[in-house]
Amino acid sequence: MELLSLIRAKRRGAELSTTDIQQLVTGIVDHSVADSQLAALLMAICYEGLSYQETFALTRAFIDSGVTLDWSHLPGPVVDKHSTGGVDDKLSLLLMPWLAAAGLTAPKMSGRSLGHTGGTIDKLESIPGFNVNLTGAQMAEVINDVGCCVVAQGADLVPADKIVYALRDATDTVDELGLIAASVISKKVAAGADYIVLDVKCGSGAFFTSLARARKFAQVALRLGRDLGKQIGCVISNMDQPLGRTIGNILEVHEVLDILNGQQLDILNGQQTSEDVVELCATLGGVLLALSGKAANASLGRQAMLDLPKTGAVGERFERWIAAQRGDVAQLNAQASTPNTTRQVSVQATRSGVVAGMNTRKIGEIARRLGAGRLTKDDRIDPWAGILCVKKVGDTVEAGEVLAYLFQGSSSEPIPKELLAEYQQTITISSYGVELPQVVLEVLPPNRGLSVIGG
Ligand code: URA
Repeated sequence: MELLSLIRAKRRGAELSTTDIQQLVTGIVDHSVADSQLAALLMAICYEGLSYQETFALTRAFIDSGVTLDWSHLPGPVVDKHSTGGVDDKLSLLLMPWLAAAGLTAPKMSGRSLGHTGGTIDKLESIPGFNVNLTGAQMAEVINDVGCCVVAQGADLVPADKIVYALRDATDTVDELGLIAASVISKKVAAGADYIVLDVKCGSGAFFTSLARARKFAQVALRLGRDLGKQIGCVISNMDQPLGRTIGNILEVHEVLDILNGQQLDILNGQQTSEDVVELCATLGGVLLALSGKAANASLGRQAMLDLPKTGAVGERFERWIAAQRGDVAQLNAQASTPNTTRQVSVQATRSGVVAGMNTRKIGEIARRLGAGRLTKDDRIDPWAGILCVKKVGDTVEAGEVLAYLFQGSSSEPIPKELLAEYQQTITISSYGVELPQVVLEVLPPNRGLSVIGG
């Protein structure tokens, strides 16, 4: 295949044919396409975009580049969830056992943190002993036992996306809508679930910064799902501020434990909650219950989800799941009840008022520089590094009051002063009141009651 002609065609804004795209993906996987030329093509795609036909062809070719999993031997509707990437996105840790407790079967492949976004696999690996590398047979065993399972995506599932994603990350060509859609949908289709919910993040910490773009992505995702024979629902959620209170791997696991135990974070003396995490999980689960026919609509599904934790069923399922993947539940609970607060520095507000905005992408980058994330795939994560966001949008604050705590993790280096100043700059404090942000912005498709979500 003549890659130069594809680059030239895309630079002119021409549409690539399905055959061109199939050959391109074959060349990517057999390494006959040079990184330099692929990078140039990706940049041209970022400027000119991909049509729906091109996006569909790329998604199909990505799926065909590796294996497709089949869970038809498992009981119950098989469901999956994917996020388009955000800051402190601990949802899967809570949602997977919650879905299992709701009677759904939830096998999940997840990724690691890259750039300002976090990764579920890094969070799970911060749990002592937790094994994210299971064979298909081991996965089935865990699922038969507890109804859910989360593992690192294997090398044989959509290998083309792995190669292209790494290059997109290195060339700042991640945030083109068609490229994101092909990447997300190919992985979810290949992972074999029947019903899929996408958490489409929208706001300053997301790849889609406007509601219009998030909506357009959701529409493309729904159309791809339909054309590939999968039932997909989308929840557009607010990423204009971090989700929950903590950013960083073990900190987020502890926050999930606190939610399951019905507690608030100790360090905040019970003043703050993680309601947005709970609300978004319940909404995503409600969509899956509706898609799989276990609820009449997503609104009733959400309500059914919210009723479950009160029975203790979700907390029990969480512990069984962690233990089934060899995580040490006793050690985890002991760590969470005695948090290491000695290696932390507080960031104070420089003026009084109401928190009116948070630059979430910058906050994610600060967390990464503390050690909670990675810039290249070879960087090491520090599980104890991260941020506790004390003040969020709508909170009143006095000058000198704590906005956040930064955790240096296991590093012996003190946290650089400029990082504290940078955190202060991420927070906009206003003299006027602000409208409290909703975490769920929209639910699609708007049929079968899916858009009618309360709360
Ligand atoms: N998440 C993915 O899996 N792929 C993308 O391209 C962006 C976010």
